[in-house]
Amino acid sequence: TELTPTYRRVLLKLSGEALMGNLGHGIDPQVMMRVANEVREIVDLGVQLGLVIGGGNIFRGVGLTAIGVDRVSADQMGMLATVMNALAMQDALRKVDVHARVMSAIRIDAICEDYIRRRAISHLDKGRVVLFAAGTGNPFFTTDSAASLRAIEINAQLMIKATKVDGVYATDPVANPQATRFTRLTYNEVLARQLGVMDTTAVVLCRDNKMPLRVLDMGKPGALLRAICGQDEGTLIHS
Ligand code: UDP
Repeated sequence: TELTPTYRRVLLKLSGEALMGNLGHGIDPQVMMRVANEVREIVDLGVQLGLVIGGGNIFRGVGLTAIGVDRVSADQMGMLATVMNALAMQDALRKVDVHARVMSAIRIDAICEDYIRRRAISHLDKGRVVLFAAGTGNPFFTTDSAASLRAIEINAQLMIKATKVDGVYATDPVANPQATRFTRLTYNEVLARQLGVMDTTAVVLCRDNKMPLRVLDMGKPGALLRAICGQDEGTLIHS
């Protein structure tokens, strides 16, 4: 293709649900291989990629408290769910010949590396995809906050949040088909309009550290590649 990447280093956040497909729970192998192939396309262009995967397709802290699990234990279970997803994605990437390393914020060193910033950057410089697992390692945070934090730590030029919706809308596009999509927004507009892009912690972290964010639909073939090539895909949010 004629496409050339605009960004040299990018942090991609995938929700756990993005791997679930239409299953309702767990991982859809076809969806995962399609994501792996899209990742390969951009890695082949020389783009350095960090990946944060959520855990909502397995466990979410808040959902577990509803069945009586203590909040901190519930969040720890949620963080372990993100490790499971990262291990699955590492494997899927290997299948398409992409070198990948899972680095966990919680020490689980029998199955993956510990997250150490300078090692992560060294992997990225060698063209390896780094899968940042276990979120921030702390309860009461989300993987959106983890993604914002890692994006800033690795000096990514862009963070991409891949969801099931092709950008940010003024109102819920599922409930209201007439809803309009924003092409650009500032983080303060996101906060003032209470747009549910990410939790406030993540929004403020990106705003204060001038980390731009593009929100796009991972189910739309080629969306990721177009965003990385600087095209107007989904919604761009900036400081
Ligand atoms: N989590 C946490 N700290 C973090 C990141 C995640 O405690 O830094 C827990 C939290 O319980 C959360 C779960 O892990 O509900 C799964 O992450 P998230 O809900 O962000 O996943 P996603 O919605 O992106 O699939």
